Amino acid sequence: MKIHDVLIVGAGLAGMRAALAVPPDLDVAIISKVHPVRSHSVAAQGGINAALGAADSWEAHAFDTAKGGVYLGDQDAIEVMCREAPDDILELERLGVIFSRTEQGLIAQRPFGGAGFPRTCYAADRTGHALLHVLYEQLLRRQVSVYEEWYVTSLVTDEGECRGVVAWDLLHGGLHVIGAKAVILATGGSGRIFYTSTNAVINTGDGMALAYRAGVPLMDMEFVQFHPTTLKSTGILITEGARGEGGYLLNTLGERFMQRYAPDQMELATRSTVSLAIGQEILEGRGVDGCVLLDLRHLGRQRILERLPQIRQLSLEFAGIDPIESPIPVQPGAHYQMGGVQANGWGETALPGLFAAGECACVSVHGANRLGGNSLLETIVFGRRAGVRASEYVRGKAPRTPSDRTYQADRDRIARLHASQGSQRAWQLRDELGRVMSTNLGIFRTKESMALALEQVRRLREQARHVRLHDHGQVFNTDLIQALELQSLVDIAETIVAGGMAREESRGAHYRADFPKRDDTTWLTHTLTTSTPEGPRLSYRPVTITRFPPK
Ligand SMILES: Cc1cc2nc3c(=O)[nH]c(=O)nc-3n(C[C@H](O)[C@H](O)[C@H](O)COP(=O)(O)OP(=O)(O)OC[C@H]3O[C@@H](n4cnc5c(N)ncnc54)[C@H](O)[C@@H]3O)c2cc1C
Repeated sequence: MKIHDVLIVGAGLAGMRAALAVPPDLDVAIISKVHPVRSHSVAAQGGINAALGAADSWEAHAFDTAKGGVYLGDQDAIEVMCREAPDDILELERLGVIFSRTEQGLIAQRPFGGAGFPRTCYAADRTGHALLHVLYEQLLRRQVSVYEEWYVTSLVTDEGECRGVVAWDLLHGGLHVIGAKAVILATGGSGRIFYTSTNAVINTGDGMALAYRAGVPLMDMEFVQFHPTTLKSTGILITEGARGEGGYLLNTLGERFMQRYAPDQMELATRSTVSLAIGQEILEGRGVDGCVLLDLRHLGRQRILERLPQIRQLSLEFAGIDPIESPIPVQPGAHYQMGGVQANGWGETALPGLFAAGECACVSVHGANRLGGNSLLETIVFGRRAGVRASEYVRGKAPRTPSDRTYQADRDRIARLHASQGSQRAWQLRDELGRVMSTNLGIFRTKESMALALEQVRRLREQARHVRLHDHGQVFNTDLIQALELQSLVDIAETIVAGGMAREESRGAHYRADFPKRDDTTWLTHTLTTSTPEGPRLSYRPVTITRFPPK
C-alpha cells in the first residue's frame, strides 16, 4: 500500500495551491473525482480580490469582508486573508496568470458588490479558467502525482488521527486504501443540494460529508449564498462582474428597483441584499416570468465583447438572447456554501492529521455572506497555508499503515447498493432533494418551511441507502458514484436544515421571514454541527472580533 506524506483530496484551486506549497523533498499526491481542470474552480467568472490599488488598503478590504459577512466572520482569519492577498496575486502573475490590464499596463480591477473600492482582479470573465490552468501547469512541472478520476468514499482514522482515505478507482473499478501522514480536504462546495444552482454537477459536498462522518464538526452550515443573477431556468451563473461593469436590474415596470432596497449601492449591494430584493419583486408580482431583467445594452457592444464575452456566449447559447440587444432574464440560485469543515487559519481541523481549505472549509472569513471575489482568494491564501502547515506536521513523522476497518465498511456499503432491490434511482431522489431544499430553504425561510424540509430530508436520507443501481459493472460506473454522492448530499442537507431551524434571527444569507431582525445578543455566534447516531448535534462557539466591532 502506498503511504504519501501529504495527500490532497481535490484538484481545484485550493488543492492545487496546497500541493505547490509542499516542499519538493516531501511526497505529495492529489486525488480527484474528475480530471483536475474540470474542477468547479474553472467556471469562476468575475475575479479575485486583493487591495492592490494605491488608494486601497488591506484594512479596507478586511472591513468590507467583516461587514459584508454581517460580523459573523472571524476577524483574525479575515485579517490574514486580506493582508496576504496582494502578494498571492503577484505570485500568481509570476506563475503565468494573464490578468486583464489597465491602459497603463497594471492589473485591472473591477468594482464588486459590497466592496468600497474596485479591487477584483480578473481575466475577462473567465478568471477561474486562467488561474486553474496556470496552477495545473505548475503541478505538471513539479511532477506531483495525481490520482485522476478516483472517488474518495471515507477518511481513515486510527488512534485519533487521520491516516489516509478509502477511494474507488473509477476508470478500472475497485476500492483501495491510500495511506498518508496528513490529508488535506479541498473538495469544494455543495451547491447541488439545491435545484437551481450555479454549481457543477460534481459539487455534492463530499468532503464536508467525509469529515462530518469522521466526527469532525462542520461550522455555520445554514449560511448558503444565493447568487442574485443566474440565467432563467438553467441556473447558469451570470457574473456579478456584469453589474460591476455597470449593468442594471429592472422589474416588469422597467424600474431600477434596487433604488428601493439599497439606494446608495444599488446593483452592487451585497449578494444577500440583492437576492432578497429580487425575491421580493417577484413575490409582489413585479417579476418577468419568475425572473427580473439584467440590462447590459447601455454598456455598448464593444465593452460587452471585451469584458463579458462569456456572459454573452452563455446567454446566446442557453437562452437565445444577445445581451447586446436584449436584457437577460435572471433569478437567484444557490451558489456558495459559507459553512464547511471547521478549520483555523492554517487549515487545521479538530482531527489531527486532517486539514481543510477552500470552499469545503469554514475558516471562517465569509461569515453570513461572502463578498464576490473573496472565494477564489480564500482558495489561494488558505490552500497555500494548509499546504505549509500539513508539511510541517508530517516532517519527521513515521509512516503508519492505516487499518482496513473503514475499507471493509465501504466495501459492504457498495455491496449493499449493488444488491438493493429499491425502486428509486439516485437521480430521482437527488431531484427531489433539490426541490425540497430550494422551496423550503431558499432566500426566504420560516420555521414551518424548514420543519417540512427536515421531515423530507430525513426520509430521503433513509431512501438514499437503498437506491437501485442499473449498472453493476466495474469500469466507469457513474451510477454507483451518483448513489454515493447522493449520500453526501442528504447528510449535508440535514446539517443545513438543523442549523437553519435553530437560528432564530436573520443575518446575511439566512433570512427568516418569521425572525426578520438580526439579533447580536443571542446569535452573534458560530453554529457547530457534529454527527451523532440520532442526527446532527448543534453547539455554539464565539466569533472572533478584533478591530471591527459589529455595527
Ligand atoms: C459558476 C461559478 C462562478 C464563480 N465565480 C467566482 C468568482 O468570480 N470569484 C470568486 O471568488 N468565486 C467564484 N466562485 C466560487 C469559487 O469558484 C469556488 O468557491 C472555488 O473555486 C472553490 O474551489 P475549491 O478548490 O475549494 O473547489 P473546486 O474547484 O470545486 O474543486 C473541488 C475538487 O474536489 C474534488 N472532489 C470532490 N469530491 C471528491 C471526492 N469524493 N473524491 C475525490 N475528489 C473529490 C473534485 O474532483 C475537484 O477537483 C464561483 C463559483 C461558481 C460555481
